[in-house]
Amino acid sequence: MATITTKLLNLIKISIFLISIFTPKAHAQSNECNSQSNNSCNDKSAALPLKIIAIVSILVTSMIGVTLPLFTKKIPALHPDRNLFVIVKAFAAGIILATGFMHVLPDSFDMLWSDCLKENPWHKFPFTGFVAMLSAIVTLMVDSMATAIYSSNQKKSSSTAIAPHHQGEDDEEAVVERGEQEMAAAPPRPAGHFHGHHHGMGKDRESFDTQLLRYRVVAMVLELGIVVHSVVIGLSLGASNNTCSIKGLIAALCFHQMFEGMGLGGCILQAEYKFLKKALMVFFFSVTTPFGIALGIGMSSIYKENSPSALIAVGLLNASSAGLLIYMALVDLLSADFMGPKLQGSINLQIKSYIAVLLGAGGMSLMAKWA
Ligand SMILES: [Zn+2]
Repeated sequence: MATITTKLLNLIKISIFLISIFTPKAHAQSNECNSQSNNSCNDKSAALPLKIIAIVSILVTSMIGVTLPLFTKKIPALHPDRNLFVIVKAFAAGIILATGFMHVLPDSFDMLWSDCLKENPWHKFPFTGFVAMLSAIVTLMVDSMATAIYSSNQKKSSSTAIAPHHQGEDDEEAVVERGEQEMAAAPPRPAGHFHGHHHGMGKDRESFDTQLLRYRVVAMVLELGIVVHSVVIGLSLGASNNTCSIKGLIAALCFHQMFEGMGLGGCILQAEYKFLKKALMVFFFSVTTPFGIALGIGMSSIYKENSPSALIAVGLLNASSAGLLIYMALVDLLSADFMGPKLQGSINLQIKSYIAVLLGAGGMSLMAKWA
């Protein structure tokens, strides 16, 4: 009887030992890929008010960030020479570049290389780089073809009509446009993407129109490129119930959105939209992360950050927006400005602008530490 008891005890000990070896692994695996960890920090009811605070504070800081560059136009002392305008744009371009390289691209690599995905094909081929590359080529294609089509249309109609978006714009913008026109009247850009049809007096107006249209398209496409990342970071905050980390995450996201907003704001500034469109772009950007948080709260029972389908969908979206952001930041924002007449005319302004680019890119890179 005693031997049976000791044998039984040993068997139990061994089985507990075996279970203790294998379960943490299995548990960790399922934790990582299927559900949220069950540590003491997880408290759904305590996390909800924090998320509400996050929605409000991120909404406000995003709005501050994105409207801040738009106010530089209102400073009269800095208006005439417009050097500040160029520097603000360079700063904004730096932020967009770092968003692509430091936030969106690494996120995509993380997701598509995740251990929660099958070895084949996800670990056999660098999908992130491939999709980002294709996306950059597609952006170039859309860019060049749209410009070509617009230019040929413009050529046909330039003798008969003035472009419609110059009618009905308020006085303040008209003043700005005249300023821009003077800039555009400078010698043609060495690295210009558009080879205008130079005939007579319409030349300046035409190249200015093409340039402005370009800026407008760039601002809108950039907003779309940023949206994926903004929604995803909101989504992961909304779906998390970890009260220990959520406070730090809220602060990080507020800075993140404010800074990213400054980048986008700089691009909206040069697009010179009318008030309503500007307000719409500001609104759209500001609500993306709060919308992501709300979505995360609503779907916290369904949405699993590490489920294969979520990883693949979000990873591929991130890869394509990374390609788009990097292309646009380098070609449409940085190269267009630095190779343009204004900066080519002054090494001093170039140096100031490069400092602005480095500050923008450095600041946004720092944010990558948190979100
Ligand atoms: Zn980020």
